This record gives sequence, C-alpha cells and structure tokens, in this order.
Amino acid sequence: MTHVRRHLFFDFGNTLVDSDAAAGAARRAVTVRAASGSGIEPTANELHTRSEHAWVAAAEKVDRDYYAPLGDGPIDSQLAAELVIAAYSRHLLAAFGSELTSSAVRTLSDAYLQELALSTALLPGVGEALAELSSAGFRMGIISDNMVEYVEPPLRHLGLADHFEPVIISGREGPGVIKPNPEIFRRALRAANCEASNAVMIGDNLECDIAGARTCGMRAVWFNRAADIQASDQEPYAIVDDLRELPDLLI
Ligand SMILES: [Mg+2]
Repeated sequence: MTHVRRHLFFDFGNTLVDSDAAAGAARRAVTVRAASGSGIEPTANELHTRSEHAWVAAAEKVDRDYYAPLGDGPIDSQLAAELVIAAYSRHLLAAFGSELTSSAVRTLSDAYLQELALSTALLPGVGEALAELSSAGFRMGIISDNMVEYVEPPLRHLGLADHFEPVIISGREGPGVIKPNPEIFRRALRAANCEASNAVMIGDNLECDIAGARTCGMRAVWFNRAADIQASDQEPYAIVDDLRELPDLLI
C-alpha cells in the first residue's frame, strides 16, 4: 500500500500568529524611537495619535501612488509593503520634526521590521495544535500573502523556522502570485510534492485562503477566530474557532 503523506498548509497572519497585536506593538515602539530623537516629550496619548495618523496617511499614500495606477494589474506584495513602511517612517519623522534623510527613513523602517518580529506571538492554542498535528505525522507548510520580512524573521524568533516546509510567501513569488490566485497554491503543492486531494488549507480569510484552495481541489478549513457571521459564497470544508480543534477534525 502506498503511504499517503498528508500535508497541512497554514496561512500565517492572524491564523498562526496575532499579526494585529504585533503590528500595534511595533508601531508603538518605533514611535517612541522617532520621538526620542526629536527633543519633544509627547504623552502616551499623543504618541498613539501621531503614530496612528502616520499609519493611515502612509496607507492612503500607497493607495494613491501604487494601487490606484495599478488598477487590476498584478500586485507586488513585497513592494507594496515596503512602500507602506517607508511612507509610515517618513510621516513619523515629519510628525516629530526630524530631518527626512533616506538613511533616517531606512533606520526607522528597519527598526519597525525588527520590532514586528520580536512582538509576533502565536495565537492561543496554536503551539499545542501544531505539536499534536506534528506527532500525528502531518507535514506542515505555510502559504502567506505578505512581504518576506513579515514572515521569516518572526518564524525564526518563534523557533519555528524549521517547522514548516514549504514556506510560500507572495512577496518572494513575484507580482500577482497572491491568494486567492490558484497559482500560489499550485506552487505550494509542487514544492511539497503533494496532491491537492491530500492537502488541507487552514486560514482566517474566506476569500483569500478558502476560495483559492478550493479552486485547486484542496480541502479548506476556515479559522473563524472572530466568530464572524459573514455572507460569502465560499463554503469551507469545516469551520473552527480554535486551532486545537484541528486534530479531532483531521486525525
Ligand atoms: Mg490571515
């Protein structure tokens, strides 16, 4: 009898790790850093307000300068994220009256990515679920729409860099190879040497994680972390609100 190797593919952001919390913590840390060089001593409230204002302004700038002209063209997720971080750094430096040199922008951008990696933590129950699935013999990979620096340094920091194979990140795969485009799922299956029928995708986003996986013939489990009732034409194979439910579902 042929031994069938079953493969689980996880989304990264807000499925394995709390990306929202990590981004919030990283923004707080770099705002304190930007303020400390300025001679201004803002209150915690002012720091928060300036930071969030800079973040919104950066997102708007990238919408205007990158996404709007791109139209329906292929998104380069690496470039898009780099543009947001650089624009955010520039807005923060300006908010504290600092000089806008390219090296100051780069230093703050690098600090943001470093803080993000250090602040990234697994969601509750994820470590337990991964350990149980791993000892049950599942192989596990990651399929993420992100810039590479949003995934690999946090994985190393969490001690999980060797835990997942393959780690497919849209920022490395190139423009347009982004969920729910089936191409990113096909590349993951090829890299894992796995048939779609033996693969399960687990993710928190119905359109990105579930739709593309199903188009490729993979089963897809929706991680409905927020206990959302969403109108969608995507029908996942199963819905869980805690990844500790996966072993019972899959073993
Ligand atoms: Mg996600």
